[in-house]
Amino acid sequence: MKSSDIRSTFLHYFRSKGHTIVPTSPLIPRHDPTLLFVNAGMVQFKTFFLGEEKSPYPRATTCQKCMRAGGKQSDLEKVGHTARHHTFFEMLGNFSFGDYFKKEAILFAWDLLTELYKLPKEDLWVTTYEEDDESSKLWSALVGMPEERIVRLGAEHNFWQMGDTGPCGPCSELVIDQGLEVGCGRPDCAVGCECDRFLELWNLVFMQYNRDTSGALTPLPKPSIDTGMGLERIAAVLQGKKNNFDSDLFKPIISSIASLAKVSYGKDRERDTSIRVIADHIRGITFLISEGLIPSNEGRGYVLRRIIRRSSRHSRILGMHEPCLYKLIEAVIDSIGDIYPEIANEKERTEKLLKVEEERFMRTIETGMTIFDELIARVKKDGSTVLPGEEVFRLYDTYGFPVDLARDIALDAGLKIDEEAFQRAMQAQRERARASWVGEEEAVAPLYRDLLPKIGKTEFIGYETLESRSTIKAILMDGKVVREAAKGAKCEVFLDNTPFYGESGGQVGDMGEMEGEDALANVLDTKKPLEGLHAHIIKLKKGTLRAGDRVRCRVDAGKRRATMRNHTATHLLHAILRSVVGEHVKQAGSLVSPEKLRFDFTHFSGLDANEIATIETSLNEKIMENLPVITSVMDIKSALDSGAMALFGEKYGETVRVVSVPGFSIELCGGAHCRSTGEIGLFVITSEGSVASGIRRIEALTGSSALEYLKEQKSELDVLKALLKTDKPIEKVEKILNDMKSLEKEIQKLKTGSRDILSEALKEVKELDGMKVVKFRHDGLNPEELRYLADNIKERIKSGIIVASSVADGKAAIVCMVTKDLKDKYHAGEIIKKIAKIAGGSGGGRPEMAQGGTKEIEKLDKALESVYDILKK
Ligand code: ATP
Ligand code: MG
Repeated sequence: MKSSDIRSTFLHYFRSKGHTIVPTSPLIPRHDPTLLFVNAGMVQFKTFFLGEEKSPYPRATTCQKCMRAGGKQSDLEKVGHTARHHTFFEMLGNFSFGDYFKKEAILFAWDLLTELYKLPKEDLWVTTYEEDDESSKLWSALVGMPEERIVRLGAEHNFWQMGDTGPCGPCSELVIDQGLEVGCGRPDCAVGCECDRFLELWNLVFMQYNRDTSGALTPLPKPSIDTGMGLERIAAVLQGKKNNFDSDLFKPIISSIASLAKVSYGKDRERDTSIRVIADHIRGITFLISEGLIPSNEGRGYVLRRIIRRSSRHSRILGMHEPCLYKLIEAVIDSIGDIYPEIANEKERTEKLLKVEEERFMRTIETGMTIFDELIARVKKDGSTVLPGEEVFRLYDTYGFPVDLARDIALDAGLKIDEEAFQRAMQAQRERARASWVGEEEAVAPLYRDLLPKIGKTEFIGYETLESRSTIKAILMDGKVVREAAKGAKCEVFLDNTPFYGESGGQVGDMGEMEGEDALANVLDTKKPLEGLHAHIIKLKKGTLRAGDRVRCRVDAGKRRATMRNHTATHLLHAILRSVVGEHVKQAGSLVSPEKLRFDFTHFSGLDANEIATIETSLNEKIMENLPVITSVMDIKSALDSGAMALFGEKYGETVRVVSVPGFSIELCGGAHCRSTGEIGLFVITSEGSVASGIRRIEALTGSSALEYLKEQKSELDVLKALLKTDKPIEKVEKILNDMKSLEKEIQKLKTGSRDILSEALKEVKELDGMKVVKFRHDGLNPEELRYLADNIKERIKSGIIVASSVADGKAAIVCMVTKDLKDKYHAGEIIKKIAKIAGGSGGGRPEMAQGGTKEIEKLDKALESVYDILKK
């Protein structure tokens, strides 16, 4: 039975029993930050089981994509070492949402396995939860399972729960005995053993209790069913294989690996393990990247990076030192691309991304890997099983060799890292590092830290107003607190309250004016050296400012409004990028100033002109819709619950400010914004490019800057049209370029065909055995011009052999031509080879035309002279 039939038989069987076939959900859970990847069929139905939502159908069946790598339920390390574990696998399942219960679940499973899949009843065993007598009884009463093949196991094995509280219940598994030769052979080997003999095929979960916070169980009014069977396991069993990797699901992948690495499968244990690890991982990699995940150093992206690195490491073991994994994606698509079209659709992008990641890894890892391999060999030779932690740390510190990878490799080699020593070395390094950068940070910050408690926080009132009457609390000049500052002084002024925005969150500080009784100062910039402290950097134009003075503050409104336009546009851009380019887009940095906005984001490839145009258009549409921009202050939890995007690496307090364009964009942001999107006026992208690998940058203009920019472009175009005297400059320029090309050719012809050179050349015609031979040198021609010259000579002499040469830029070019009538007797390529050889160079070509050259110009003349001898022979 082919795996595709096994899959559809399952789904159709349950459909015939009143189940709705529900499509798989993505591997990356969209609304569950607590879960790395979907790891079971029930995940997409969680809210039904929890009673938070009502299921639209009483029964469902699925074939769910699952990933068990990273997080609590990781099987990453088992892959390749057991015959039954994968990172990525497909889970077949049937579900009852308060509809049928144990009896039906048992009957369905038994019926499908023994009647449709025709598994031999006598090889099947079941496990039950030791306190669940009901299940054990049902197994013997309903299907006649003999008592000795019903194995009761404890809670750690057969009691399932969704979390510390909530729905839970006993499980019952269907297990197949694959025979003594498959197992570990230990005398106590039995159901529940870690080896592959008693293979767990199918797990039936009977959700019948609710656990409350005190841990007490109360029966659920409507118990439910959740089951899961690994497709790879049942496929291997039905295809008579003792190892998942020998089923048809993996066949094309394994043969691709074997042929890429030029090794054979099934001949060598260690090699087979590497092949299987790669075969497993490449499926996970393909699916995760297709779903938009990008390798990174945190969370899900890091799991992906780890899997890629593990695979890369195994491909190295197989002798492949160039990126090769990306070539296997095709085989994954061959095996299950028809069931999961997303992997076929994303093929090119996935391949590109994987190749880049492989290349990056190989670049950074090469040296470290060699040293690590040596270390392993040394430790093994010494008969030890522990890798010295200091040395692993040194590899990490010096070569950036990832510790996780070191652990993986060690595990594969049956070794352990001395983690304690490793941590000690890491700690020592941290202390050294701290000692070395204390200097600078500490030198500046204490000043402000001392100041803050003395003068109190600056109250920021600049969201509502751009003017204020404030009191000077302190003045700092040249790193010291001073009482006053006089005309011409440049200093930092601190106020009780201020309308000036202090540089933060990518938005630049405000500029403007500060006016005292008799003083006037320009505010050049505003910084926030500490949270709650605004430092106004001013230059006094007139009079004196003293601590305690009352001042009138005026933010440069024009600049501030321009900044606000850019800031609000940045939020719109972020939201649009996520919808146009993909959900994986994350802000990686931004700069918002009055002049322009700059937005860095995670994305792998460049945006094409189409995408840029789409982004520009969508953003301008949002401007025209004139949507309100709403800011509110709330606690962090409600903000995140409402879907606000938080930036990775930013620290947020208990209460946060949320800026939203309802229904379109919502972000945590302390910046200054327009009241509605219409104020942005206009948006144009001026550039798009790469800043680091995996990070793109967009620069754009809004409002009058955007208008100015477009006006400039238009006036340039107008000038161009005037110069070209046309309304269609593109056509005209194309024509001019074409004309230029033919003119260049014409010039070459003229240069080389000029009477003087040609007639000089024709003077060199010699008769050799009744045949015309022209040997000619004229310096200063490039190879192309030389060819034209030879062509011209050929035209004139009609029949004969031409050897022409020219020295230019310190090199000599040689051309040989043989007219058609002589090409059976003489071969231009052969002739040039000989001449070039004498000249210390090289050459070759076709019978009628050949070219060569040399750098040893002093040998040229002698070589040309030899043509007569060569032709005589
Ligand atoms: P095992 O003990 O073999 O790791 P499990 O108890 O973790 O299995 P469940 O969580 O009950 O398995 O998952 C339900 C079914 O999914 C299993 O019976 C098995 O057929 C399949 N399955 C689980 N983990 C994997 C895996 N890593 N690779 C392939 N199939 C798996
Ligand atoms: Mg498991």
